[in-house]
Amino acid sequence: MSQAHSLLDPNVSVAKKYDTVISGMGLSGLASAWQAIKRGKTVLMVSNRPPDYLRVQRVYLKPENRDSLLAMLPDAQHLTSEDKKFVEQIKGNYTMGVKDINYTMGVKDIERFIKRQLDRFPKQINYMYESQFSQLDMHEGKVTIESLRGLPKVETNFDDVIAADGTNHHAVNIFNAGRASELISYTGKTNLKRPHHLSAYIKLERKDGKDLVLPDKNLLVMNDSSTDLLSFLHFNKDSLQNKKNPKAIKCHFLSEIPKELYDKMKNSEMDASAVALPHIESSLKKLLDKEEVNNGEISISIVKPSQKHGVQKDKLKLQCFETNLEEANKVAIGEHGRRFIAVGDVTTTPSYQVGHGAIDALIHAGWVGEIFDGKRTLDQYTKDVKAHANRMHRYGVDLFLFPLQSRTASAEAMESIAEMQMLALQQKYNRQ
Ligand SMILES: Cc1cc2nc3c(=O)[nH]c(=O)nc-3n(C[C@H](O)[C@H](O)[C@H](O)COP(=O)(O)OP(=O)(O)OC[C@H]3O[C@@H](n4cnc5c(N)ncnc54)[C@H](O)[C@@H]3O)c2cc1C
Repeated sequence: MSQAHSLLDPNVSVAKKYDTVISGMGLSGLASAWQAIKRGKTVLMVSNRPPDYLRVQRVYLKPENRDSLLAMLPDAQHLTSEDKKFVEQIKGNYTMGVKDINYTMGVKDIERFIKRQLDRFPKQINYMYESQFSQLDMHEGKVTIESLRGLPKVETNFDDVIAADGTNHHAVNIFNAGRASELISYTGKTNLKRPHHLSAYIKLERKDGKDLVLPDKNLLVMNDSSTDLLSFLHFNKDSLQNKKNPKAIKCHFLSEIPKELYDKMKNSEMDASAVALPHIESSLKKLLDKEEVNNGEISISIVKPSQKHGVQKDKLKLQCFETNLEEANKVAIGEHGRRFIAVGDVTTTPSYQVGHGAIDALIHAGWVGEIFDGKRTLDQYTKDVKAHANRMHRYGVDLFLFPLQSRTASAEAMESIAEMQMLALQQKYNRQ
């Protein structure tokens, strides 16, 4: 890359042209950058965040996703100690009844790993932090990038743009700007009639101090006919192990809630726990009654998640969230011999019940690699991305439609349930 452009940020010199310019440095942006680098392309990554920003949540990866990450590694003799640690981490596996399902990794660890692999190719890659696209000219193949720290704007040329900046889809907005009509537009995509949810860690114990005996299952689904709201009770690994003779059990509760309760929790100056507890109590008591769990009175309290499982270490004990799914009509467009390709959360908001965001990011990036190779057309990419998202969305909806104790779901949907359980454990919906 010739560093011919004027230096605007003392730490960054931007070349006149990059083969690929990427907006967003999350999993999908980084993994797509890897696909470009692997093919000898030059890449500029533009992130609105500072370099030291770290994502806290953990995500589920399928074995094939893990393989795709491991394939980025250099030869064994060139592995850094951090890479070796990552390999250990990614190969780690623990199960809770469903094989390979409860395996999660920190997004930050995966992001750092991919970034380390990209950094092995300093001549091909450049990063601009705290910056974002301000103009995109597909005809000229030119992108203008503005600094969020007030530094002067930068221009550079490109062949391909990858929009990987998450659910806010900033690059798509810039791509659409100034056109008579939007080429890429979004439609709401929720079949969930009740998009408001509550997630809490709770402790169940009998008021009389006797043992609490739970049914031999780790997921209960309740359709509360009086309110038409669904709730899940998730017994974690620890509660399952100790379920034979427990005095008190910690588990995770996840429930649809009425909008009024959501608003109250969000806006209330009161302690949100005090607002939520009556709902949790009434839902759970019905649920436990139905399951014929102890006739004795059970006390329910909201507690901190177990410290025994690293995942929950610094998590909140209670949160409420709103599901808002959006899907782009097109995710890859060719114009004037150049390509604009959307990946990851830019294409579809991941359906939280199924937890496929990280999985999709890596899958999309693999497909982008095939576009680079001429093995996948832009239309095919759009079709595949949409079909995949719809499949995942359907699982999410199915999941909510399961009747109590139904075990008739397809193996794939059951896998989604298991993922959902794992997701619930993570209390993950604390979007920044
Ligand atoms: C709190 C939370 C919990 C989640 N939990 C799960 C889970 O359990 N399982 C799962 O599979 N997925 C989960 N996801 C989703 C998952 O993290 C993403 O789907 C996955 O990381 C891939 O996302 P992405 O790279 O497409 O988008 P993101 O990870 O959102 O990355 C987008 C990047 O673009 C940057 N950006 C944003 N705006 C701009 C801009 N204007 N200019 C430049 N850059 C910009 C952002 O800083 C960010 O780094 C969760 C997401 C969040 C936020």
